[in-house]
Order: sequence, then C-alpha cells, then structure tokens
Amino acid sequence: VTAAPALLSGWGRTAATRATLVRPASVDALREALLAVDGRGAVARGLGRAYGDAAQNGGGTVLGLDRLDRLERFDADAGEVVAEAGLSLERLLRTVVPLGFFVAVTPGTRHVTVGGAIAADVHGKNHHRDGSFSRHVRWLELLTPDGRVRRLEPSDPLFGATAGGMGLTGVITRAALRLLPIRTGDMRVTTERGRDLDEVVALLEAGDREARYSVAWVDCLAGGDRLGRGVVMLGDHAEPGDRDAAGPPAFAPASRLGIPVQAPAKLLNTWTARAFNAVWFAKAPRRRREHRESLGAFFHPLDGVRDWNRLYGRTGFVQYQFVVPFDRADVLRSTLERLGRERIGSFLAVLKRFGPGTGLLSFPMPGWTLAMDIPANVPGLPGVLDALDEQVAGAGGRVYLAKDSRASGRLLGRMYPELDRWRALQRECDPGGVMRSDLARRLGLTGEPAA
Ligand SMILES: Cc1cc2nc3c(=O)[nH]c(=O)nc-3n(C[C@H](O)[C@H](O)[C@H](O)COP(=O)(O)OP(=O)(O)OC[C@H]3O[C@@H](n4cnc5c(N)ncnc54)[C@H](O)[C@@H]3O)c2cc1C
Repeated sequence: VTAAPALLSGWGRTAATRATLVRPASVDALREALLAVDGRGAVARGLGRAYGDAAQNGGGTVLGLDRLDRLERFDADAGEVVAEAGLSLERLLRTVVPLGFFVAVTPGTRHVTVGGAIAADVHGKNHHRDGSFSRHVRWLELLTPDGRVRRLEPSDPLFGATAGGMGLTGVITRAALRLLPIRTGDMRVTTERGRDLDEVVALLEAGDREARYSVAWVDCLAGGDRLGRGVVMLGDHAEPGDRDAAGPPAFAPASRLGIPVQAPAKLLNTWTARAFNAVWFAKAPRRRREHRESLGAFFHPLDGVRDWNRLYGRTGFVQYQFVVPFDRADVLRSTLERLGRERIGSFLAVLKRFGPGTGLLSFPMPGWTLAMDIPANVPGLPGVLDALDEQVAGAGGRVYLAKDSRASGRLLGRMYPELDRWRALQRECDPGGVMRSDLARRLGLTGEPAA
C-alpha cells in the first residue's frame, strides 16, 4: 500500500480537493485500507476521467485502484474476460483486439478503468442498440465497508445500485465482461451533414435503425436557420470481404500530440470555438459518404491529443450533458438558442439517442442526449446552467453525474426517480456512511444534507 496526500480533481480540473490517496496493490490491502478509514470516509478512484468531483473526497481517503489492474482470464469461446477493476479499457483493448474481440461498450476515451465504467455505467455510440456498460457485465465483485467481498449478478438488487452508483455502495474489485467479436480492426463509417437541427435529428433517427454506432456533432454556435446544424456519423465494424479489403484486427493507437504546459486561460473562448465549429462543418463531406477508420480514430478521437483538458487553462471547464425523453426534442433547440443568446460556445457538442436504461442511478434513459464542453470561467455560466437544469428536470430528463461538477441537489429526486430505492440499498450495505465523495456531499446523494 502507498498512501500520500494528494490534490485531486476530475478531468475538467475544477474544484480540486486534498485527500489521502491510498493505492493498494491487492484486494487484501484494499480491504485493510477501507476498514481503517476515519470519519471523512472513502471513495474509489480509477483514472480520474469523470469531469467533476465524483472520484474526490476532500479531507478523507481516496482509494486509487490503478494498481489492481490484472487481466485475470480470457475465454475466447465464451467471449469473456475477468479483470481487476483498475484495468483500463486501453490495456484491455490492446490485449483482446488482436484476438478478435472489442469491448461491448466504450466511452469516448479508452483511459477509463473497468470499475469506473461500471460505477458510472458509461455509454457509447451504440447505446440505442447495446445499452450501457453494465449490461455486458456478467458479474462483479464489490468490497463493502464491512470488509466483505460480495459477488453480484445483474439480478441482484445491489448490482443495480452499484452500476451507475458512483462508487457509493463500495469498491468494485473484479468483474466478468462479455466482449463483442470483431473480424477486422476497421470501422465502416458513413458521414453526412445536416443543415439544421431538424435534419440532424431526422438523420440520427434513421441512422439508428441502420447502424450499430451513431453520433452527431452539432455546431452550437450557428444561429438563425442554421441552428443545430451538424455532422452525423454512423459506424459498423467492417467485415473482411468489405470494399477496401479490411485488415485483421489490430489496435495500435498513438497519442500524437501532448499539451506540454499550462495553456493561457483564454486560449479556448467563444471566438476560437466559433472558428473551430465552422471549419469542422466545412470539412465534412456535403453529401453522404462512406469511408474507413481505425478503431482508435472512430471511438477515441480525443485520445490522440494527450492532456487536451489543459487547453482550457487553470480555471478548467465544465461538461454539461443531459438527456430528455424523445418527445422533448424541443429542449435541444431551446438549449442551443439559450447558449447562442448568451454567447456560450462549446467546441464539442455531441448529440445522440439512448435506448432503455439499466441501473437505478444510471444516466441513460430512452431519449436525446446532448453534451457540451464549456470553459468554466465564462461569465454568468452558473446561472445559465442552473436554468437549463430546471428545464431538463421539467421535461422529465436528467444530467449526467459523471460529468457534473456544479449542479445542486435540489432537482436530484426529479431527475432520478429511483433515488429513494437506491438510497435504501446504499444504506443497507453502508449503514455507517463510510462511502463518501465530494459529489455525494454536494448533491446530498446518500441523503446527507447538501453542503
Ligand atoms: C474525453 C472523455 C470522454 C468521455 N466520454 C464518455 C462517453 O462517451 N460516455 C460516458 O458514459 N462517459 C464518458 N466519459 C466519462 C467517463 O467515461 C466516466 O467518468 C468514467 O467513470 C471514468 O472512469 P475512471 O476509471 O476514470 O473513473 P473515475 O473518474 O476515477 O471515477 C468515476 C466514478 O467511478 C467510481 N469508481 C471508480 N473506480 C471504482 C471502483 N473500482 N469501484 C467503485 N467505484 C469506482 C468513482 O468513485 C467515481 O464515482 C468521458 C470522459 C472523458 C474524459
């Protein structure tokens, strides 16, 4: 075990807090560390890719899982792996892709751990077809604050509280994951422009019937009759006989660029965002076009630039991601209008359709999800986002806890209707309130009054 004071933040680099970071190298050491925590409690941390304060615990203990990273078993016949929770999807993919398998669900970065992917019940571009990460977990093992390790299958209520439970039911130590067989290392990608929001929405609706993966990038700074214009990308794993002869499965993504120093805080602002969005839109083919992409380029384009979060400078950035039911697509429009009026720009506004949800606190539910990266120092931003929260909750939607760094807990019960059931299960396995995080305190997630 190593233990040291550490200043920790999420990927958005806002609201860092100091904690004792303990990094056990075995489950026994992890258990010992959890049993020894004091009144400020503990929470697990993977690779810190949650944008906000989910994997922080100011004044308390943070259990870093990065040394519990063994790939324990690979079963090609069953298409299944058993891995320790600290294993990253990056390392998992490097091992299984050459053997003809891909992860069933991957978020937009591969630098996340198996435990972090389950705790946030992450989604990918195939949510409309394959659901979220936990849907492909055959079982998981959870270390609870009493020192027990429980093996949970999806039918166990505690599984449903742990998938999407943001680390507050205990520490996930291992999991068995079902993989997706693939026959090449290429993606067949179709790109098409939509001139306005209606067209982008229609292209995504049609695309979801056609393709396993779909996503749209939206230019959130185009106004007037171009409001919501964007580029829709549909993808499927290529087959060996496809045009352009796809090669055998391979996975060798490289980080081409790094951001070496702290960037000046104003480098990314509304003007650069506007220019970036316009160039991106112009670059996309005017008419529907099919091409090939590597797995890395299609699934994790941002991983090509190491530490890109530093581009937002010292004050960091916020990712605002929400979902609203399918019949409330009007919220997408009013959000874009509002941000346009306030001149709040995002470099990456990503629009996608979700299928049915999984865990009690899982973010995905059938509907439209929109995600935007916004510099945290934009004047007036907190008020605007608070107003958007009201609108989202009023429409029967919710914001994503793994991306959140600023919401208040007031709307939590409306956004997450299973919150009380989740709290009851959480309390059952953690009656002493040992599992704690900055996120949990800020939102009053486990029932404590919001700080
Ligand atoms: C560039 C980028 C793109 C992203 N794209 C997507 C996307 O497309 N879809 C999506 O859903 N998310 C996306 N995310 C968010 C990311 O997938 C999640 O926040 C994920 O949880 C991060 O995993 P991590 O291992 O870094 O966990 P951390 O960020 O370290 O922790 C996240 C949460 O998981 C808990 N946790 C971590 N490990 C364990 C464990 N072993 N046991 C119990 N709890 C644990 C923590 O307590 C915390 O609550 C993206 C993030 C980035 C930076």
